[in-house]
Amino acid sequence: MFKVKSPPHRTEKGLKSGLNKFLLLGYCGVIISLIKESGMNIMNGIFDRIDSFRNEMIDLQIKLCSYPAISPSSGGEGEGKKAEVLLEFIKGNGFIDIEVIRAQDLDAPEGYRPNILALYKGKSSAKTIWVMTHMDVVPPGELKLWNGNPFKAWVQEGKIYGRGVEDNQQDMVASLYAVKALHSEGIEPNYDVGIALVADEETGSEKGIDYVIQKSNPFRKQDLIIVPDAGNKDGTMIEVAEKSILWLKFKTQGVQAHGSTPEKGINSFRAASFLVTELNNLYKIFTDKDHLFDPPVSTFEPTKKEPNVPNINTIPGEDIFYMDCRILPKFRLEDVMKNIESMTEKIEKEFKVEISIEAVQEAPAAPPTSPDAKVVKALQKAIRDIYKKDGKPTGIGGGTVAALFRRADYEAACWAKVEETAHQPNEYCVIDNMMGDAKVFAHIFLQE
Ligand SMILES: [Zn+2]
Repeated sequence: MFKVKSPPHRTEKGLKSGLNKFLLLGYCGVIISLIKESGMNIMNGIFDRIDSFRNEMIDLQIKLCSYPAISPSSGGEGEGKKAEVLLEFIKGNGFIDIEVIRAQDLDAPEGYRPNILALYKGKSSAKTIWVMTHMDVVPPGELKLWNGNPFKAWVQEGKIYGRGVEDNQQDMVASLYAVKALHSEGIEPNYDVGIALVADEETGSEKGIDYVIQKSNPFRKQDLIIVPDAGNKDGTMIEVAEKSILWLKFKTQGVQAHGSTPEKGINSFRAASFLVTELNNLYKIFTDKDHLFDPPVSTFEPTKKEPNVPNINTIPGEDIFYMDCRILPKFRLEDVMKNIESMTEKIEKEFKVEISIEAVQEAPAAPPTSPDAKVVKALQKAIRDIYKKDGKPTGIGGGTVAALFRRADYEAACWAKVEETAHQPNEYCVIDNMMGDAKVFAHIFLQE
């Protein structure tokens, strides 16, 4: 049995203090809603300001596009001239602590590749909210596939067309104008805002963000690092993790013979074909799913096939094929390799061939950014307010430049609302995406 507690008797004093508390709470509520309202007013003022920059932003896109910042290793002149245009913008729009980090590159006309870091001062320097974009672009590819000059950007039906306008200028311009809007409205954000404009992203980042992290690391564990260089069409994908990549080359050596006397040779193509089907068993071994990723499983796909014999009536003595594996980070690449080797040995014995395996690329996944990381939460809040959508932390199969941050133990998230036209002919940027993404950045800059 248990006794029901009777409620304590209220004294007159208790009643009075209750009333005071009630009044105080009401008063606080009014103040909080006033603060909220003034926060909303500030935010709306910033958004209006961003909208007023629409034509300027388009003009900057077109100007940046006219300096083809193709990496010297891809036959271009690098980012030198484009960096000058950007520095001019940065100097005129309230940034302090502007730094150019030069990574030596004797193939670039300047002898180096520029990386720009610029800070916009907030009320506190306890953390910095970084947006990192890259200045370099990939070559245009076949010109006849373009409807215009890829380096003379043109505007058509709400889109800007040109090489680099989406990858990565859309969000470079968006982030710069988010800061310009703060500056024009005379708003001091709660924390410092950092803009990083880097070189060499398209050819490995060795003279870009990798160099910046190694040589002059301005990043701190508590910083929010946003890399708007991956995303999807509705702006809901927040990339936080990636799979390990393993590319393998299989070379099968048999014995060449005439097509009419196969018994005098060993058909390498047949042996390799059996190996391809044998390797499909990897799907039955590494079955675990992780729903953070899309697709949620590890994938093991035979891809490229080199030609063997040029004629039909020869038994091929040598066969080469490749495989592209994207493996969930929970699995070790060594364990995958062990399984592949034993499958290969089985085929070698069965068909009396020799098979060599070469790793063309072996990139273990960087440690993922937590789906609950501050940078993810901040993005989700802003995406909800601006695009009325729920941002979903996602793992992908390909490598992004954010992995360099993650390897150095920083929590970075990739996000942008993009049409995914990067590297294609007639690459374009939807102007509304550029405007919306600028508001998302401004929203994050103004968050508590
Ligand atoms: Zn990019």
